[in-house]
Amino acid sequence: MKKIAFIGLGIMGKPMAGNLIQAGYDVTVFDLVESPVREMVRQGAKEAQTIEQLVERNEIVITMLPNSPHVKAALTDGAEAVIHYAAPGTIVIDMSSISPKVTKEIHEAFQEKGVGFIDAPVSGGRTGAEAGTLSIMVGGDRPHFDAVKDVLDVLGGRVTYMGGSGAGQTTKICNQIMVAGTVTTMSEALAVAKKEELDLYHVRDVLQSGGANCWHLEHKAAGMIAGDYSPSFKAELLLKDVRLAVDKAQEEGLDLPLLRKTEEMFARLVDQYGGGIDYTAIFKQICADIEEVE
Ligand code: NAD
Repeated sequence: MKKIAFIGLGIMGKPMAGNLIQAGYDVTVFDLVESPVREMVRQGAKEAQTIEQLVERNEIVITMLPNSPHVKAALTDGAEAVIHYAAPGTIVIDMSSISPKVTKEIHEAFQEKGVGFIDAPVSGGRTGAEAGTLSIMVGGDRPHFDAVKDVLDVLGGRVTYMGGSGAGQTTKICNQIMVAGTVTTMSEALAVAKKEELDLYHVRDVLQSGGANCWHLEHKAAGMIAGDYSPSFKAELLLKDVRLAVDKAQEEGLDLPLLRKTEEMFARLVDQYGGGIDYTAIFKQICADIEEVE
């Protein structure tokens, strides 16, 4: 079995690394925070003291980090970055959601060293990460994708090659434009039902059976109605994704008014409730705004 280094053991990375261990891969883990490393070691992972140790031992390196600066620091820019130690033939898979432009820069830097680099961001949330059913959108050189497809199949229910470097991240941006839009519009619909004092669970069930049905109604509405905003996907990370989308739209000369509005709304959410709250708290904010107006 392939030897895998896994960097970033947060909400998503921990269950993903756990699934690779369960599938029999030899997994070495690394995170800046000690507690998830300890937890993964209890599940059978190896621990590396330094990035040099982590990378030297392994033929695949996976990152699952918050944003472009974290990925750049870990892979190419830091004094202890992976690029200084990875042997030619290593394949690095970035599964974080980051900028397609930065992705291409990292791809070029690794190419010069004979190291493969693919972008493989995911959708499906913590439940998808736990169940190994994520949708994985891949960009990069096809032979590198083919070489690690078996590993991605453990993590994903659908693993799709989208094209050259950055194509996975661009697809993920499209995904997040819809995530931000649908969770907001669903929140507005539920706010109307709340105002009319309808049974929100009943409304959700009815909407699920018609043309309004969507992933958020199926997976998120019940938690939102119950007021559970413990983080499964932090609001600051969705705001980051929306801003990646705004940057991408600007690069392409596109004006997307609904996207701009969601940026404004999620920026205010993070401002008011902090970036660590779940992104579905947009419902709480919309309800609070309505009460304020009345
Ligand atoms: P998280 O904040 O829970 O975890 C990030 C982890 O990275 C933390 O454990 C942190 O300590 C670690 N880290 C940060 N910088 C590091 C570094 N330089 N070296 C080693 N470790 C470092 O985030 P998450 O929710 O797991 O999300 C990770 C990525 O996946 C993000 O890009 C996010 O947008 C994306 N994503 C998240 C979800 C979700 O539902 N949570 C779904 C799809 C995609």
